[in-house]
This record gives sequence, structure tokens and C-alpha cells, in this order.
Amino acid sequence: MTSYPMLIDGKEMAGSATFTDQDPSTGRILAEVARGHPGDIDAAVGAARKAHERWRRTKPAERARILRRISELITRDREQLADLESRDTGKPLRQARADADVAARYFEFYASAIEVTYGDTIPVAPDLFVYTLREPHGVTAHIIPWNYPLQIGARTVAPALAAGNCCVLKPAEEAPLTAIQLGRLALEAGLPPGALNIVPGFGEEAGAALAAHPGIDHLSFTGSVEVGKLVSKAAAEHVIPVTLELGGKSPNVVFADADLGTALPVVVNSIIQNAGQTCSAGSRLLVESSVHDRVVAELVDRFQQVSLGPGPADPDMGPLISASQLQRVSSYVDLGKGEARAVTGGGPPGDSRLKDGFFFLPTVFDDVPPEAVIAREEIFGPVVAVTAFADLAEAIRLANSTDFGLVAAVWTRDVTTAHVMASEIQAGQVFVNTYGASGGPELPFGGVKRSGHGREKGLEGLLEFTRMKTVAMKLDTATYPGAA
Ligand code: ADP
Repeated sequence: MTSYPMLIDGKEMAGSATFTDQDPSTGRILAEVARGHPGDIDAAVGAARKAHERWRRTKPAERARILRRISELITRDREQLADLESRDTGKPLRQARADADVAARYFEFYASAIEVTYGDTIPVAPDLFVYTLREPHGVTAHIIPWNYPLQIGARTVAPALAAGNCCVLKPAEEAPLTAIQLGRLALEAGLPPGALNIVPGFGEEAGAALAAHPGIDHLSFTGSVEVGKLVSKAAAEHVIPVTLELGGKSPNVVFADADLGTALPVVVNSIIQNAGQTCSAGSRLLVESSVHDRVVAELVDRFQQVSLGPGPADPDMGPLISASQLQRVSSYVDLGKGEARAVTGGGPPGDSRLKDGFFFLPTVFDDVPPEAVIAREEIFGPVVAVTAFADLAEAIRLANSTDFGLVAAVWTRDVTTAHVMASEIQAGQVFVNTYGASGGPELPFGGVKRSGHGREKGLEGLLEFTRMKTVAMKLDTATYPGAA
């Protein structure tokens, strides 16, 4: 069995204990991983602090050069990383390849961005010269989930490093392998030891120790609302800024005038991608009444054609991440059967070849009342809740009827409908006649309401990892030529 270490201060460390990492397609053990404990977190934060003294003074062009090199190494190892990600998370190989490509893009994008990020001068008065500096926070902590370890790992550390921070990254216990591999590639690329420390381990142990550590200056968290609240409270003890990305219950809103032939495959993909275990999954489908029956019939037909299998076999959809996730999705679906009509799916597949993995059939619930639990809570599985609407006002009301607000998509040919929806929907991203924009590192991403706060991706994502300093310098105006 392969062993995976922690990476602290540029060194691979076995740690005093280990945990096992499971292959969700087969239930078999995939790797043995170092189990970070609070002492390791302390060492990693110390190493990051030490490295930061040098890294923050490194020229942006030099930081950019190293980040570009990391991007190149991810691309060099694309197949190996994709295979590892596919085995660790269960996701289809082509999705894992896309994740590796997007991870490489994050490093490339933020390498470019840091070279053109400047402060301002503020012309207040002739005798006051005012300018602003964007400085790194210092040591940044990054706690990430298991659904996109490589992509989210890159999304959060690339801008932090670009801005001059040094990082401690804690991947999720369910899928830590590609994040560890990313740390190795960063070292190979020439990132100074200690600038990116990777400490795998359990949430309540390594994660909680990291969030509460007095030596961190910023915390970036992607995961559940419950844990988001916990880590926010821990960070509040030290009054540090926090970026939270906490998931969603994102709607596809399909109007009768939409190009249904284009919309439907995208709507299906938005929920089956990563077996629905995506923060921005299109887990609700709001459809105008006059096309409801047609849309649902086609949706069911497409769901029934989705192929299931182990990630590396590259099916349409892989398994859920773990037995407990399977249990969670099954409970929601059982509950949903009392709230709405399950029209396809509704349980694990019958195929005996899949019996050891954590597979669940793509499931459609129709006629879901907006107050139903399955219409409001994040299930994190391949389950879509369909609700019909009569008009634009009802579409807006339904779109905003959950506590979440991460992403939404509007499908219409009418430009006014598109603009009104984009303006009225409470979400961090609204797509019109598309969904997700292929990961789009350029597009600011984040939530409103319980989906979180702060923005990742895009230039906004870089600025989150800086703090602004204003310098005001009093000048002696008598020195100006011609001054009296
Ligand atoms: P999910 O529902 O996606 O598993 P979690 O919020 O449980 O989301 O996990 C996201 C990340 O938060 C993982 O890296 C996990 O180890 C970590 N985590 C879980 N519990 C805690 C905690 N009490 N403190 C800090 N991190 C935690």
C-alpha cells in the first residue's frame, strides 16, 4: 500500500500516526496517510511564518515565475494526477483530467495577476502624498473538502502564494492524495520550503487545531455550513479575516422560450457531475408550467441513460465518496419520497459489479413543494428537485426560497427576462443559457446568505489574500518652486 506523508518546511514527514484512505468505487484501502495532530499544525504554522519573512519580499515577477512552473508541472503530470484524483474521489477520469487542467490554470492565472496588481495614489491635497499598498496577510490557513481536492487546493493556495502569503493546507481525510502531490510539485518548482505546508488529518483534530491556531492571519474554508460556523468562531477568537464557501441549493430556471435542446444536457450535467457532490451543483430545477411535462420526461430519459462505474473506467458518473455519504443521500431520498414524487432513481443501482462501491442512481423528484426538505437542504448527491412555476414573479420567488445563494442559471431567449432574473436572484454567480463556465478561474465565485462570504477566483480572489495599507505623507509645500 502506498504511504503519503505530511509536507512541513519542505520535508516529507511520516507523522506519529496514520489513517487509511478508501477507494470509493470498491471500498478497498487506497493509501495510508500521515495523520496530522495539533503539534504538526503548530510546526507547519511556524515553518510558514519563517518562510513568509523571505517570500513577502520576493519580487512579484519571481513569485510569478515559480507559480508558472507549478502550473507547468501540473500539466506535465496531468495523467498521473487525474488517475490519482479519480481513484481517490471516484470521479470519472475525464472530470479528473479537467480538474487537473483547471488547477494548472489557477497557478498560471494568479502568476499573471500578481504582476499587474498595484496600489493607488489618492490626490487629497498638495501637501499630502497618499498611496496604498496591498500587502499579504502573512500565514494563511486553507481547509478544503474532498470533492475537488486538486482544483480547490489550487484555487485557494495559488492566489495566497501569489500575493506573498505562506500557507498551511489541510485536505479532507476522505481524499487527501492530490493535495499532497500538489505540495510536492510546488517544492519541485522551486517554492521555498515552508511556503506551502500540507498537513492531512481529521477535521476535529488537525482542522480544528489549524482554525484555532493563534499564528494564522487568514482562514479560507470550503465545506459544510456546520463546520464553517465552527471555524469562523475559532478564527473570531483571534479576530482574523475568513473566507467561507459553504455550498448551495442552486437552481436551473428554465423558461418556456428556452432552447431546450441546449439546456437539458447542461441541466443534467450540472447535477450528475461529481455525482452531485459539488457546491455549485444544479440541485433544483424550476421549470415554467407550459413545458414542465416535456422537460421532466426528457430529464428522466437522460438520467436513465447515465452510466455508472468506477472513476478510472470513465463512466458518466462515479460513486459517492463514502459509506456515510451514501447513508446521508439515502436518508434524504427516503424523506423525499414522503414529500414529493420520485420519478426515476431513488436508491443504489442493482448492478452486482457495483455493490462494494458507494453508488447511487441519479434521482429526479417531481412536484416538489418549495417548503420540502429536499427543496431546501443540500443533499450532496445526484438528486434533483423539480418544481413548476407560472410566471417570472414566481420564478424569482422560488429561486430565492432557500437559505443558500451560491449559483443560479437562467434559460431563456428573452433578454429582458435574463436581465431581470440576473438582477433579482440572490446568488454569487448567475449564468444565462450556460452553467459553470468550465470552472472559469477568471470568474469571481462565492456565496450570499448561508453559502458563505468572501470571493474566490478572479482578481477578487487575489485581493482576498491581501490587506490594504494606506500611507499618508505630509510634504513641505514651501519647497515647491514659486511657493510663497
Ligand atoms: P463535507 O460535508 O464536505 O465533508 P466538512 O465541512 O465536514 O464538509 O469538511 C470540510 C473540511 O473541513 C475537511 O477538510 C474536514 O476535515 C474539515 N473539518 C471537519 N470538521 C472540522 C472542524 N471541527 N474544524 C476544522 N475543520 C474541520
